Amino acid sequence: MSNFNNLYVTMPDGTLKHKNPLSGTEVWTVPGRAHRPQETFDRPKQKLIATPIENYCDFCAANYFKTPPEKSRLITLPHHAIEKQVHLPACEIKNGNVLFRRIGNLFEIITYAYWSKNYGYKLTSLQQQWKESYLSLPEGYQHVIQMVDTKLKLGNKTEKEIANLPIDEKLSIADAFFGGSHELIIVGKHYAPEADFDDQLLSSGNLSPEEHYQFIKFTIDAMVDIYENNRYVRYVTIFQNWLKPAGASFNHLHKQLVGIDEWGSSVELECSLVNKNPNIYNDAIINFSIFHNLVFAENDYAIALSEIGHRYPTLAIYSKSTHARPEEHTDNEIRGFSDILHACHAAMGTAIPCNEEWYFSPKDALSVMPWHVLIKWRTINQAGFEGGTKIYINPVSPEALRDKIVPALYTLRQEKKIAPFQIATECRFNLNSLLYYQK
Ligand SMILES: [Zn+2]
Repeated sequence: MSNFNNLYVTMPDGTLKHKNPLSGTEVWTVPGRAHRPQETFDRPKQKLIATPIENYCDFCAANYFKTPPEKSRLITLPHHAIEKQVHLPACEIKNGNVLFRRIGNLFEIITYAYWSKNYGYKLTSLQQQWKESYLSLPEGYQHVIQMVDTKLKLGNKTEKEIANLPIDEKLSIADAFFGGSHELIIVGKHYAPEADFDDQLLSSGNLSPEEHYQFIKFTIDAMVDIYENNRYVRYVTIFQNWLKPAGASFNHLHKQLVGIDEWGSSVELECSLVNKNPNIYNDAIINFSIFHNLVFAENDYAIALSEIGHRYPTLAIYSKSTHARPEEHTDNEIRGFSDILHACHAAMGTAIPCNEEWYFSPKDALSVMPWHVLIKWRTINQAGFEGGTKIYINPVSPEALRDKIVPALYTLRQEKKIAPFQIATECRFNLNSLLYYQK
């Protein structure tokens, strides 16, 4: 098997040319350009005005009635116990110490109407019952109508058009809140605990390892539920846009899950590669990264590396499990994966805008790929050169990225802010350590 060394070449002048072995994306890291000042998105910080209930955006605790009815939530109980609550009536959503909430996205990318018009999709009987019971109480009815009106208003309908729309039509638009397949998982707090200034947002990295595990597990549970409710969904894409430059509508931590009736071209491409070489993720990613010293963290369940051939500086976390899909992972495997993902976010800090993207085998795929997550730093603006050539200039080399992360991981581990695991040269560097294809 190829050693893929031709994908990672340093020219005599120092230019590093690298190509992603899975996507084929061609990237150059040019000497000198690495020293160009990067946009940091910093701005003068402002003192936070303390409020008894957070009210900084529509995802905050004061504004639960500005988001669709809640599918489920995790709350913390005394002694750190965690409880899942499902389908709370409107009169109860303001209560409780909320860790995460799961709701339909008010503005779906793939809409409820898409599924119902193209496939004949309808609410399941459980969703229908939930809708009826939610609407049977005055607060619930009022909440739903108010959300439909907001949706229509933001969809450029006039006040008069909204007022004249028959109530039955409004209640049918509300089906999207109860049975749509584009969902959000929103963290309870906008700011970090004891934040004094408005730059102290609650990011993935400043959750505790336990809270982050609950976040990941809750997200996987939501994915399973989307598959179960909508049998036309072939793949659920999962991502997290952190900060506005990365596409987030609010700087309030949340993940998105979107059910799709296709796999999308990047997953299709990865499936075709794995069909040709079932060990491609070991050959081209893990073993290659071990030989080039790009692996920077490892535990029994996952391995992290600085991945070559991305338009943006990219951290990658791969599951080592024999279980391929996230929902097939045991709780310990999910926790181990989450610990390393969490630590990557913690080592980056809160200020770097990024996209967290999940990849795994679609429900109807026979090809088996390992569950992996990419964290792409949105710190670069692509320009004309990239558009014209499809060669992307990424000023941070994979080695430089690794060297930014490793010292932060050591510090965080010492401060016990991340779970303990092997860092940099402590890693095991076992070739073929991903076992996804063995089942
Ligand atoms: Zn908020």
